[in-house]
Amino acid sequence: MKRFALAGNPNSGKTTLFNCLTGSTAHVGNWPGVTVDKKEGVYKNKTIKEPISIIDLPGIYSLSPYTPEEVISRNFILDEKPDAVINIVDATNLERNLYLTTQLLEMDVPIVIALNMSDALRKSKKEIDAKALSETLGVPVVSISALRQENIHELMKVAYEASLSSRKATTVLKGSKIAHLIKDVEIAFKGIKIDNPLFHSIKLIEKDEIEVKNHPDLLGIIEEFKSTFKDDTFGDDLEAVVADERYKYISKNCSKTLKVNQTGVKPEKNKDKSNLSLSDKIDRILTNKWAGIPIFIAILAIVFHLVFSEDFLFLNAGHVFDAVTFEGTPYEGLFANGGISSPGVILFNFFDMSFGYITDAIRLGLESINTQAWAVGLICDGIISGLFAVLGFLPQILLLFLAFSILEDSGYMARVAFILDRIFRKFGLSGRSFMPMIMGFGCSIPAMINTRTLADEKERTATIRVIPFFSCGAKLPILTAIAGGIAIKFGFAYPDVITLSMYLLGMATAIVAVIIMRNTTMRGKVAPFIMELPAYHVPQFKGLMIHLWDKTKHFVKKAFTIILVSNILVWVLSHFAFNWQYLEDSQVGDSILAGISKLFQPIFTPLGFGSQLSGAGWVFVAAVVAGLIAKENVVSLFAVLAAVIAGSGEVGEAESVVVLIQSTGITAQGLIAFIAFNMLTIPCFAAVATAKAELPKGKLKWTLLFWIVTSFAVSIMIYVIGTWLWTIPIFVVVIAAIIVGIYLFRKKVDRQGAI
Ligand code: GDP
Ligand code: MG
Repeated sequence: MKRFALAGNPNSGKTTLFNCLTGSTAHVGNWPGVTVDKKEGVYKNKTIKEPISIIDLPGIYSLSPYTPEEVISRNFILDEKPDAVINIVDATNLERNLYLTTQLLEMDVPIVIALNMSDALRKSKKEIDAKALSETLGVPVVSISALRQENIHELMKVAYEASLSSRKATTVLKGSKIAHLIKDVEIAFKGIKIDNPLFHSIKLIEKDEIEVKNHPDLLGIIEEFKSTFKDDTFGDDLEAVVADERYKYISKNCSKTLKVNQTGVKPEKNKDKSNLSLSDKIDRILTNKWAGIPIFIAILAIVFHLVFSEDFLFLNAGHVFDAVTFEGTPYEGLFANGGISSPGVILFNFFDMSFGYITDAIRLGLESINTQAWAVGLICDGIISGLFAVLGFLPQILLLFLAFSILEDSGYMARVAFILDRIFRKFGLSGRSFMPMIMGFGCSIPAMINTRTLADEKERTATIRVIPFFSCGAKLPILTAIAGGIAIKFGFAYPDVITLSMYLLGMATAIVAVIIMRNTTMRGKVAPFIMELPAYHVPQFKGLMIHLWDKTKHFVKKAFTIILVSNILVWVLSHFAFNWQYLEDSQVGDSILAGISKLFQPIFTPLGFGSQLSGAGWVFVAAVVAGLIAKENVVSLFAVLAAVIAGSGEVGEAESVVVLIQSTGITAQGLIAFIAFNMLTIPCFAAVATAKAELPKGKLKWTLLFWIVTSFAVSIMIYVIGTWLWTIPIFVVVIAAIIVGIYLFRKKVDRQGAI
């Protein structure tokens, strides 16, 4: 029985076509050794005299071995030699789908292109000239609709006819600048009598893993060619040259077969700029080579200004409302004189004020019924102020999360991945790994799980390691509280600038760390990033609200469970000495918590929050440890202990930092280093457990070490440079030495020929 294979991109309609061709004869199994579905069935119809076996290959974007699906499809066509390949192309997405087609053409197998979704194309008043496309590519093209079962028997008839004779491979690269090289390598392959010499030679030029392994002896030809080949765009990366040439060919020769039939407009006239969609026009600006990154940072700055600024629209700095004063009114806490706070800060202040009233009321109530002092302390300081310290941040977390959700749902974040891909691909980092990283702004856990979309294990490991550097919702209170404390105590008017800078610091550290890893311990190939940029659209209100509600539930639940328990524990450990003697608030320095924390305090001296601090300096060490359980614990521990240290009951979130600044003498540089340390060090328990599950075996201990080393290195740099500017040259020398070291290491490895 003749066998036809269906090959095409995911979602091009292969399964739909397969089902209507094979009907009840279809059965599903697995490809040997992998869990990818293998679907086979039989086509029987009077249009063809014999029954045909149909195989639905897995959906793929290329024939390079980046994913198991690609390896399966490629090997099936090369080894099992089907009688014909039906290449399903989503006609509404012609250019992207033809990328695979250009590779299929390079195999010695009869090919028929099925232009699927022609119904959808018609609906959007477009049309593809199948005849012209067929002439360009040299293989039959049939327009079909798998969904409406249009023309599918015609397709089978054409495929059957094609399968009766053999077909010689062709390539769209024959007019390209590497045409000569391809010829040379092909001759070499023919010399060793290998089937599909054209396909193998182009894949070898692409430095395809499988080919390089099987034919290392032929690499010499390519190296020789490369030494004479200098191209500014790609350097000596022939894989990129090949991909680029394919796309160039498609847009030059195939794209014109797509016609738009608008009433009254002749198709030929409706070209170029005039038929760019609104999305395309927006993309010209947002994904611009130079403007893309500055625009992304500007958008982030606007978001942070809305959420964290104490001086909304810089009205205060501009003395806009100088004459208006809120002093003595109930709004004193909500608005600054001469300006207003951003919506995020107003909400925060509102919560903070209400929580203050509630705590005071409870304290008075407890005292009026003569409750023991320790019980008042436990309830008001240990439980309530710790809880409120965390819950107070809910409005800002939700606002920030809302902003990120809007950016994501509108399609903008996909563009960010695209922009970053273009820049960082050279350094071993693809746009695909930016998607989970950006998810990390919400929570590291789903983000780490999302890295499963990365085919390369080393890229995946590197990505998982840096995801926690994308500051998650739980770390946000640390940033806000400390930025607020710095603003109050050191007279810096723009806490939103601190917050944004710390977010950017996290991202920059992540990118630098990945680049270092991808050039040293985690080297590997970067799979091409083929992504369809979804059209921009207005996010759905309902969807956004569901996101926010989930976040709120999660946050509140965490506050009343793990954080509550941690706070009680902190309070107890700070009110008992090692001999379990109860301590008054003023004796907190003799507590178990203080004793243990002081033991580790010297380690943090180079970071600015170690032995140099006086009084309650150990609190920062205790906070770091509590943060390993849940990052929210850092501020709630501040609130609990500040209340104890101040001895005056409830103090607000930023105020608790002020109390600590006063009682320890920590500097602004030390506080910034403290934020950076918490952001970059080992994440919370739950994230570590996820990392353990998602990382390859044996990589967790190195990952923990990586987090510790990175957090110390960056925080020390911040503190030392921030405090003594003259140390900059020393760091420059150290960093330069590291870069040179990595460069030499790479060279050495390259020379040994390992990848
Ligand atoms: P596969 O991933 O290539 O197997 O694609 P599927 O067969 O699962 O199809 C993906 C989607 O495209 C499904 O929602 C199909 O209903 C839809 N689809 C498939 N063929 C057509 C078609 O000819 N016209 C339209 N409008 N939709 C189609
Ligand atoms: Mg399918």
